[in-house]
Amino acid sequence: MRIDVVTLFPGMIAELMEWGIVGRAARGGLLDLHTWNPRDYTRDVHRTVDDRPYGGGPGMVMKVPPLRDAIRAARAATPGATRTIYLSPQGRRFDQAQARALAEAEARPILVAGRYEGIDERVLESEIDEALSIGDYVLTGGELAAAVVIDAVTRLLPGAVGDEDSVRQDSFATGLLEYPHYTRPREIDGRTVPEVLLRGNHLEIEEWRFKQAVLRTRRRRPELLAGLELDKRHRRWLAELPAEDGPERELERTNGGNTGMAGERS
Ligand code: SAM
Repeated sequence: MRIDVVTLFPGMIAELMEWGIVGRAARGGLLDLHTWNPRDYTRDVHRTVDDRPYGGGPGMVMKVPPLRDAIRAARAATPGATRTIYLSPQGRRFDQAQARALAEAEARPILVAGRYEGIDERVLESEIDEALSIGDYVLTGGELAAAVVIDAVTRLLPGAVGDEDSVRQDSFATGLLEYPHYTRPREIDGRTVPEVLLRGNHLEIEEWRFKQAVLRTRRRRPELLAGLELDKRHRRWLAELPAEDGPERELERTNGGNTGMAGERS
């Protein structure tokens, strides 16, 4: 998959290709990452990419010509480029469904990272198809947001992650948060691994993990349960659970006292 990033700090994006799954995908040719620096499209000796805002006020604004020309150069070099996406706190919230859509559509997105107070509105009007936000907070620049999108999309590309099952079971893939994980040793600092995971009965383990996923989703992100489709047996099980924290505590006991996040224990 080809992804182009328009950025004043291409080194921040290039760094992604050095590490972990994204690095391996880039080295293996699964991810074809390119950067375009608006500074290379300036015409003055100072290579100016920003200017003061009309109407006054704080900060600087990214100028139209260098940014527009960098985006157009990226588009010209990317046959089949589908969408030009501006990373912005004012955009639609990026989520797993969008990451999957980008990964599956064989999209060739061009990601535009802003700096300063943002970009001149006319670039948005003429060059940008869609704005994406990675959350309700303001970063100093769009590079980290672009990195989030690239990382989330890359790990969904077939072959990027060694064991595809791990992607299928991740949080949000099934509409639930993922169940808790344990590895060796069996006991540490007085905390044990839930017995069910040691017995080797795969059906029993699957059932336990599913219920754990439902319980922790109900506790941490209850709104996700609204869209969940359960079979009759699990619908009844969920309906019969008391509304407050009790059942999860009940399960904690059968877990040997482990629930995962220390901050949630009382
Ligand atoms: N003045 C802008 C506003 O209030 O909407 C914020 C500008 S911010 C300091 C600079 C750049 O960081 C933005 O142009 C955008 O590209 C990026 N950015 C900041 N927060 C972001 C977020 N939550 N998601 C995606 N991009 C973000």
